[in-house]
Amino acid sequence: MSEQINNSKNQTGSSAREVCIHIARELSTLVKHTLGPNGLDNMLVDTAKDSVITNDGATIIKQSAIDHPVAKVIMNVAKTQEEQCYDGTTTSLVLTGELMTQAGDLLKNKIHPTKIALGFQIAALKAEEILLDMGIEPDEKMLNLIAQTAMTGKSAEADKEHLSEICVEVAMAVPMDDITIVQRPNGKVKDSTAIAGLLIDGQKLDHIMPDAVEDPKIGLIAADIDIPDYTQQLNVQLSGNDDVKKFIESRNSQLVEIAQKLVDTGMNVLFCSRELHPAIIEHLASHGVYGVRRVRRSDMEALANATEARIVMNIDTFSEKDLGSAGLLEEITVGERPMIKLTGTPKKSTVSVLVRAPTEHVVAEIKRAFDDAIGVVSIAHEDNCVLPGGGAPYMQLSGKLKEFAATVGGREQMAVEAFANALEVIPKTLAENSGLDPIDAMIALRKAHTEEEGWKYGINVIDGSAVDMLNENVLEPKRVVAQAVRSAADIASQLIRVELITTAKPMSEIGDDDFQF
Ligand code: ADP
Ligand code: MG
Repeated sequence: MSEQINNSKNQTGSSAREVCIHIARELSTLVKHTLGPNGLDNMLVDTAKDSVITNDGATIIKQSAIDHPVAKVIMNVAKTQEEQCYDGTTTSLVLTGELMTQAGDLLKNKIHPTKIALGFQIAALKAEEILLDMGIEPDEKMLNLIAQTAMTGKSAEADKEHLSEICVEVAMAVPMDDITIVQRPNGKVKDSTAIAGLLIDGQKLDHIMPDAVEDPKIGLIAADIDIPDYTQQLNVQLSGNDDVKKFIESRNSQLVEIAQKLVDTGMNVLFCSRELHPAIIEHLASHGVYGVRRVRRSDMEALANATEARIVMNIDTFSEKDLGSAGLLEEITVGERPMIKLTGTPKKSTVSVLVRAPTEHVVAEIKRAFDDAIGVVSIAHEDNCVLPGGGAPYMQLSGKLKEFAATVGGREQMAVEAFANALEVIPKTLAENSGLDPIDAMIALRKAHTEEEGWKYGINVIDGSAVDMLNENVLEPKRVVAQAVRSAADIASQLIRVELITTAKPMSEIGDDDFQF
């Protein structure tokens, strides 16, 4: 990447804006070729040569090595998109890149940045209004097709019928917060399944711990279970063997005391997100406690949700009141490795999906696609509104905004037109990524959108013609489109008004005091 964007200090005026445009385009370039059913993958390799092969925009951006404050701001677009909609991250980044490119052209034509920002905001508001009149209520079959569309072009595609059925069954039954998705290799994708209860990827800390616990009383601790700061701060002088012996004994008794305090709460199952001292593990095991360490944060949250346990950060405050419950905890074997299964939890709607595939890499990529698919089904079901895919809504918005621009007047009109042009990047990229001539495809689409029912027409990625995407079974939730357009517009209008990029104190250090002069 150019020097220009690595040097983030004190860039002003057009140079600051050039940096913003450049980075928005760079981030778009990172993901653009992955868009759509014929998008290709990225292989992300870290400094330890570990790699991930993915088509998922959010993953590519999260793991990208671009380290610049402007990139961080743009990455927030992808983050918001994923948090709100589970899908559409690539779309939102490609849109942001294109809006910034269009803004760059307006700047060259001497349109003032505030006019561009205002025009983009006017266009985004109008787009929201147009979207209000678009959409259809999905039936169960459509929800299934939404899941299939989200998986098209990903490793999950070969098994999309089976996986989409799981998505619909689960997403229609329970809210997303109660769904946990676990991956496990050494299996067939067809064996992926939904179960009632909570699955956690983990195993007991010591073989003498029980394989199952009935009526477990569950503790969730998000801290090291050890003597505090033992390794970092201890500085004792020991003279002779007796001293050493006494010192070790006193430490051991302190550790036993900590473990016994945990046992005394009535806890017989422990999930710890960090490490436990071996002496503590030994004490817990000898008291029949089932314990797991290094539990992921998302699993801790799912456990808290399902069992009504409280996640405790400080072991000194841990008490009986923090314990959660369930009917049964069992260690089961899946793909030759243990996994923990909790059933009969107080939160009755707890459901887990076990995603299976032959290898670690494949199962991880299928899980990413499955996360998106189950998420989109859930929001389409919640919002009760879906749109045709294949770029159809972006084309429709683009056409309507071009008509609207004529009524805006002033310099902002040019920004509204630019916004309308930028939206075409989605169908255009879908065509390009399918090896089609984008110019021919866009001509066919523009024509189709002037006709009755034209709003349903998107790109046929096989021959580049404009087709009714509802007939093609390509559907997406309206929220994905609305959010992608909204956040791209917001971030582009914010970045285009940047006049100075300068170094500042860490934002976390700015307390209230800083404003009392
Ligand atoms: P994102 O991260 O933005 O979801 P994807 O790679 O999942 O990116 O691509 C999503 C886009 O691909 C959507 O616009 C969707 O409508 C389109 N799409 C998916 N399947 C098809 C298809 N069979 N034909 C045309 N477009 C499709
Ligand atoms: Mg997608």
